[in-house]
Amino acid sequence: MSSTSRPAIIGPDSGPEVPYPLRMSGAVISGFGRGSKELGIPTANLPVDAAATPWISSAKSGVYFGWASLGLAPDHPDATGSPAFFPMVMSIGYNPFYKNDTRSAEVHVLRPFKADFYGSEMRLLILGFIREEKDYSSLEALVEDINTDCDVARKSLERAAWKPKGLDDGTLDGGFLTIQDGEEKKN
Ligand code: ADP
Ligand code: MG
Repeated sequence: MSSTSRPAIIGPDSGPEVPYPLRMSGAVISGFGRGSKELGIPTANLPVDAAATPWISSAKSGVYFGWASLGLAPDHPDATGSPAFFPMVMSIGYNPFYKNDTRSAEVHVLRPFKADFYGSEMRLLILGFIREEKDYSSLEALVEDINTDCDVARKSLERAAWKPKGLDDGTLDGGFLTIQDGEEKKN
């Protein structure tokens, strides 16, 4: 199926819907060297701790989107001194290293970096589901679909109700990304 048959935006303008936002965090680890970077789509792999992240055990496999904050080391060329927040797409799947019985999580941050950031703490605010996993007949088809995922995520996250509080006015602090939870949203 080509990307033209997919919606360009996910979710209503009023903001994320139940069960979102979902959260997870961890220090970036090495992946399986499957060449994501060579495809131009590096994915920061996170350890999946099902005890700390109970929702992930039953999460649908596929592509999700939301925001990532990254605590870059002070000597990283992109470090700004405060945690930065970026749109992201992520894949939740099964971990081949553990014979596909534990979950895997990999995040592609939607901006370029001048250097790797293995070991940095990444915090995720996951706001929606883009699509299920698919088998691809060619690498080109896979890359094209991922590029469409990135466009869908960018467009969806541009809307006011989909941005972390404080992102635009600079009052966003270094704490865990907050977006209105279902309850708070009523005010
Ligand atoms: P691995 O198999 O170790 O995950 P990848 O080819 O997927 O290797 O590259 C991932 C690494 O690339 C990340 O851990 C991170 O350090 C770096 N990286 C650079 N730019 C990005 C980006 N935009 N999004 C995610 N990771 C990035
Ligand atoms: Mg990776």
